[in-house]
Amino acid sequence: MKTEDRNKRRKLLAVFAHPDDETFICGGTLAKYAHEGAEITLVSATRGEMGRRMGNPPYLNRETMPAAREAELREACGILGIARLHFFDIRDKTVEFCDAALLEARIEALIKEIEPDAVLTFHETLGGHPDHCAIGKAATNAYLRCGGEGGLYFITFGNAMAHPERFGYTRKDVVKIDVSAHNRTKLAAFRAHRCQTEIDEWVWLPDEEALSYFGNDEYFLAGDRRVPRRSPHHLF
Ligand SMILES: [Zn+2]
Repeated sequence: MKTEDRNKRRKLLAVFAHPDDETFICGGTLAKYAHEGAEITLVSATRGEMGRRMGNPPYLNRETMPAAREAELREACGILGIARLHFFDIRDKTVEFCDAALLEARIEALIKEIEPDAVLTFHETLGGHPDHCAIGKAATNAYLRCGGEGGLYFITFGNAMAHPERFGYTRKDVVKIDVSAHNRTKLAAFRAHRCQTEIDEWVWLPDEEALSYFGNDEYFLAGDRRVPRRSPHHLF
């Protein structure tokens, strides 16, 4: 069966913390699976209103930022092909202080409703930001509590997981996805998050130059060792 056929009607649930996590960290993969027919649901726990980047030159403030970032995320979702977007309306930079049981219950309800073939989230200690780690831990617990039957994958940064040994993992734990055919879409989504990327000159270079800043692959850690691995190059 062709990969495209295999991915039709597959369901993917991505549980992240901020608008832009989906694009900056794994936008190529989301674009690829959406393009191949998977139905993607994204949770953004917050509206990213505490971000330090406020446009360039700055034109946002703490009051105007949530709506601006929501609008940018909706635009990025349209570009990447993300079908459904949920905000959990948690205040940015406070995810770790939320009632963990309530947060897990909200994610569990979504997993039961969607029955995703794969859940993507942050690793609870390698997430790189307290909000990332907190939402990752909650999503992992929710997935395990549901007896998740799809797969659980942790998103990772850049090509750090080209050498998983540094983090206590092996190559068997890594899924490496070729997103080279989707980097153009990813670049468009980067540009949709303009208040966050206006300050990054490379994003606004002519397309071919900007695209040279992207790698060809995105890396994921397989988070559920009970699920038999189907391929080191696919989530499904
Ligand atoms: Zn983030």
